[in-house]
Amino acid sequence: MLAKLPLSALTAATTDTATVESFAIEKAALEAASSAPYKLNLETTSERIRQRLIKAGQRFHANDNIAAYLKDGEREAIQAEVETHMQQVLRALVIDTDHDHNTVETAKRVAKMFVQEVFRGRFEGTPSVTAFPNVSQLNELMVVGPITVRSACSHHLCPIMGKVWIGVLPNAESDLIGLSKYARLCDWVMSRPQIQEEAVVMLADELEQRIRPDGLAVVMEANHFCMHWRGVKDNHSLMKNSVMRGAFLKDAALRREFLSLLDKG
Ligand SMILES: [Zn+2]
Repeated sequence: MLAKLPLSALTAATTDTATVESFAIEKAALEAASSAPYKLNLETTSERIRQRLIKAGQRFHANDNIAAYLKDGEREAIQAEVETHMQQVLRALVIDTDHDHNTVETAKRVAKMFVQEVFRGRFEGTPSVTAFPNVSQLNELMVVGPITVRSACSHHLCPIMGKVWIGVLPNAESDLIGLSKYARLCDWVMSRPQIQEEAVVMLADELEQRIRPDGLAVVMEANHFCMHWRGVKDNHSLMKNSVMRGAFLKDAALRREFLSLLDKG
């Protein structure tokens, strides 16, 4: 830009002490506000955890759980860090948080919402799920659902609201879990920034590992608010996908039976 200015304008701009000074102050303030999360700064809790994860060769994508790498009190420290940066986001949006009573506590509320509520599935350990031996040797199709899903897309952090149905074909050696535990595991997996295709696979993995059934099916149908609120602003966009494993893959009749039992009410 500067190169295109006539020489006189350039000279005028650079010799205007007040302008140069205010620009320098602005730049320093901006750097202080924006560079902290990107620089290797081991003083921040998030960076210490990051280094731990890298050292362990552990993936930490938006939908990964990192509970095992957090020490006592670090979740609260993460929340405080998010609050600080959220405040900078509001400033960058030129919102007068000093005088606008509606936004005075917004950074604090958003940080709490992310870390303690909507993304808690990243920071909390696996919910305890007691498994029972299959004493009655049940080997018939079981369908659980619809389970309400509340998640957010990792592309825009916009809500995803939907339903999940789970089909299980146990065998005599399978472990069975209580009905409410399906919902708790589902909630834990979904309370992270997610991609629907990956969310159903993650949920299927968690269930398969615990139940060890002959067949497992997960169907998810959800509304992606990033499609309503922004972008194409389509009010009728539902995304539906499924994971079929074991007997559900091989046996078309079982698959049909499961799909016919899904309650669409
Ligand atoms: Zn999105």
